[in-house]
Amino acid sequence: MPPNILNLSAYTVTSFQETDHDYHIDAVAVRGPIACPHCHNEKFYSYGRREQMVKDLPMHGKRVGIYIDTRRYRCRSCLKTFYETLPSINAKRSMTNRLVDWIGKQSIKRTFSSIAEEVGVAEGTVRLIFKDYVADLNDKFRYETPEWMGIDEIHLIRPRGVIANIREKTIVELLPNRTKETMIRYLSGLENHSKVRYVAIDMWKPYRDAVQRVMPDATIIIDKFHVLRMANDAMERVRKSCRESLTPKQRRGLMHDRFVMLKREDTLSDQEALLLSGWTKNFPTLGRAYQLKEDFFKIYDSKDKADALEKFAAWERSLTQELRPAFSNLLKAWRNWQPYITAYFDHPVTNAYTESLNNLIRVVNRLGRGYSFDALRAKILYAEGALKKRSVKPKFNRRQKSERRAGEMSYAMMIQHKEIKREIQLGADISTLAKMIENGRL
Ligand SMILES: [Zn+2]
Repeated sequence: MPPNILNLSAYTVTSFQETDHDYHIDAVAVRGPIACPHCHNEKFYSYGRREQMVKDLPMHGKRVGIYIDTRRYRCRSCLKTFYETLPSINAKRSMTNRLVDWIGKQSIKRTFSSIAEEVGVAEGTVRLIFKDYVADLNDKFRYETPEWMGIDEIHLIRPRGVIANIREKTIVELLPNRTKETMIRYLSGLENHSKVRYVAIDMWKPYRDAVQRVMPDATIIIDKFHVLRMANDAMERVRKSCRESLTPKQRRGLMHDRFVMLKREDTLSDQEALLLSGWTKNFPTLGRAYQLKEDFFKIYDSKDKADALEKFAAWERSLTQELRPAFSNLLKAWRNWQPYITAYFDHPVTNAYTESLNNLIRVVNRLGRGYSFDALRAKILYAEGALKKRSVKPKFNRRQKSERRAGEMSYAMMIQHKEIKREIQLGADISTLAKMIENGRL
C-alpha cells in the first residue's frame, strides 16, 4: 500500500480498500491537539474516538471516501470534552477542502448531475457548493461601473438583460430578465452609479424607465444598430411581398440574392451592384424600397441633431403610399423614441461591440441546456481567459520627514511602502467569449 496515496500530509493512511467504483481509505491525523479549545489548558487525556467519513477528490476514475479515526479528549482542567479538529477538512460539507474547491470550479463548466455522479454526492450538495462558489466570484470580481453602459438582450432559454461596458467591449452583468424591477434593483446596487454618463439601450421601455429613475443624469441613447435594423426589416418586408408576382425560379433567385439588398450601396462589389440593378429594374418597387432604406441609413451620416431631424423629415416626405406600410414600425419607433434616437447625434456613443455581441448572442445557445441561468451567468461572466483588467499604479505619496531622516528604511517601512498594484476588473471580453464558445472552450 502506498503510504501517502491521499497526498494529504496532515494524515497517515492506515488501510486501503478498493472496489469496482470506489476507494475506501482509513486515515488518522498526524498531529493531535495542542490545547483544550475551551480553556487552552495543555493537559488532557483520551476520551474515546469516532469514525468520520469525508469525501475526497475522485482518483483513477473512482470515488474516494476517507474514514478518519477522530479522537476525543477530556480536559484535566475544565473537564470538558472535545474532538480533535481535522485539518484540510470542510466540516460543514463532510468533504476535503480540495474537493469543495474542485466542485466549485467544475460547477460552472459541467452539469451538476455529472459532477454529483463522479464524486458520489447528492446533486443538491453540488448546487449548494456552486452557490457559495459563485458568491465568492461575485465578491472577487467586482466589475468596474462603466461610464458608457450598454443594455441589450441576450437569449439564454429566455430573454435576459446584458449589461456591457461599451468602451471596454466587455460584459459586466447578466440579468435573469428584462423587467423594470430587475433593472432598478441592479442599477441601484451599482457601486457609484452616478458615474454612468451614457446608456445605450434598445427600444425597450422598462430599460428607459429604470435608467431615468435611478440615474436621472445619465443620457439615454437608442443604440444605432437597433434603429438601422428596422430599416433592413422594412426592406425584407417589401422583398417578401414581391414574391407573389414571381415565378418559382425568380422566387428562388430573389431569396438567394436578398443579401445585396441589405448591404449599403457603397459596399457593393461590381457583381453585387449588377445583381441589385437587375432586380430593381425589373421590380421598381424593390428599387424604391432599397433607395428608402439607403436614405434612412444616410440620416446617421448627419453632422448634428438638427441636420438629422431635417434629413428624417425629408425622408418621411419621400415615403410613397405604396411603401409606407412596410416602414410603419420604423416610423412608429421614431415617433415614440425620437429624443433618445437623436441623442446619438449629440453623443455618438459608438456601439463598436455590437457586432461581437451579436456573434456572442448567436453562439451562446450552444452552451446547451441542462444549465440553470445562474450557472450560465457565471460561465459567461467569469470565463477564465476572457477576463479583462487594467492595473493602476498606486498614488504617488510624498515621503515623510521621518523617513528621510532615518536615511534608510526599516524592514517594516519597506513593507509598508511596497504598495500593491491595484487591478481593476473590467468584465468578460465579448469577442473572446464568442470565440471561446465557438471553439467549445466554455
Ligand atoms: Zn479545558
